[in-house]
Amino acid sequence: MKNKTQNVPLSINPTYKKGQDLAGLRSSNMALVLSTIWQNAPTSRAYLAKKTGLAVSSVTRLIRQLVENDLVVEAGKGKSSGGRTPKLIMPNPNAGVVLSIDLSSSSLRGGVFNAFNQEIFVEQIPFTDLGSGPLTDQIFSMLDSLQSQSGMQGQKILGIGVSTPGVIDAKNGVVLEAYNLHLSNYPLQAILEEKYHLPVNIQTDTSVAAIAEKYYGSAQDFDRFVYLLVSNGIGFGIYLNGQLYEGENGIPGRSGHIIVDRNGPVCICGNRGCLETVANRPAIISNAKRILKNNRDPILQEVIDGDSGSLSLQHITHAAEAGSNFAMELIRTTADHLAFAMRNTSVAMGIQNFVIGGEASIDLGPLFLESIREYLRYYQKFDPAINVVPTQLGYDSFLKGVSLMTLQQVFGISN
Ligand SMILES: [Zn+2]
Repeated sequence: MKNKTQNVPLSINPTYKKGQDLAGLRSSNMALVLSTIWQNAPTSRAYLAKKTGLAVSSVTRLIRQLVENDLVVEAGKGKSSGGRTPKLIMPNPNAGVVLSIDLSSSSLRGGVFNAFNQEIFVEQIPFTDLGSGPLTDQIFSMLDSLQSQSGMQGQKILGIGVSTPGVIDAKNGVVLEAYNLHLSNYPLQAILEEKYHLPVNIQTDTSVAAIAEKYYGSAQDFDRFVYLLVSNGIGFGIYLNGQLYEGENGIPGRSGHIIVDRNGPVCICGNRGCLETVANRPAIISNAKRILKNNRDPILQEVIDGDSGSLSLQHITHAAEAGSNFAMELIRTTADHLAFAMRNTSVAMGIQNFVIGGEASIDLGPLFLESIREYLRYYQKFDPAINVVPTQLGYDSFLKGVSLMTLQQVFGISN
């Protein structure tokens, strides 16, 4: 029989200290049990034994150590399947809190999550300015505000998680390139560690959203799927066979630069017609403004009340719902480009399931999703059907996902 402990870290990350000897925690079986509790809580010792392949006596001993270290608590009684009613256990929500920051949306969002990754508090403020200096100041003030307003009642802060767009070096916590935020080689982890003296975990927005959807959202039943982020940028978070796909050098890909139109607009990467040049929010808005400039659409004109400067994706959605052919065509063209890239990804990787999220996809709503499905049906021909579902967590996927990954890092558990 395959040794089931092979795929988990060999040691519990010793970041979590309670003044006790954690030697007993630093075992692969402990990590396995803790991961399994996380994924199945509340759960029983018998179920954990069955799921992990460990003896019930071993599971019981490991749980005793987890309880002694405040990482796991008793959670009442479960249903009996004939014998005694089993005592249930779950991760201890009061083991501390994580502060999370989301740089992927059009406002700066921050949240406080307990040690079982339940949301305690979320707030957002508009970005005042971009670039490393202004962003650092805003992140500091957001973190300070989270600490003071969250009602943490003196709870231990376990770590800080940051979800960011762009290309990152997750190992060193450096944002290598995030065009939309005007960042390059931005050593955010070092900056936050120096000020807060806490473990800091910087992750790509697409990856954290994928893991959040897998644990809590639309992707719970998928063993492999792509989370497609459509926002100011476009990107894929790829979940394969029980884990996030990391890619070469920890970079899971730059899917916004999949070419969908060889004769399309010039992209920042030097090519023409990358997905981001034709289907991200700025591309949709600028196409809509061109239509408005030529005064070709009275419905869209009316929806924005003559003020093209205020034009948003929600305006385009409202106009399409009110019967604007131009607005509908904008949505359909965007959907076409995305479906084209999704179909090619699906046949290349053998992935059938996609979760679509990000601000732009949320703003464009059901009409957009239906258009994507329609184009997927058109492109799939004899391919196996592609299933695309909307995000279940919406904007919260970034904060909740990076908080989860930070807890996993602090406790040394695998996903
Ligand atoms: Zn490009």
